[in-house]
Amino acid sequence: MTSQNTASVPLQSPRGVAHEHGWSVESRHPTSGGTVLYVRCTECGVRRVDVQRSRQQPPEALSHETASPSERR
Ligand SMILES: [Zn+2]
Repeated sequence: MTSQNTASVPLQSPRGVAHEHGWSVESRHPTSGGTVLYVRCTECGVRRVDVQRSRQQPPEALSHETASPSERR
């Protein structure tokens, strides 16, 4: 039995819609409290500041996600 009922969901994902950011480290700065990582999402350009307190721990977010100034309107 063939079904014609293949619902085609439009893949329109406007910017700002929550997605899993693909962070890429733009720069890192060793500080006394750990390594501060400036990361940017390669998909939507959102930036965030992380801190990695030790090499055994994953980075944790220091700042909220912020749009890059050039894209802010
Ligand atoms: Zn993103």
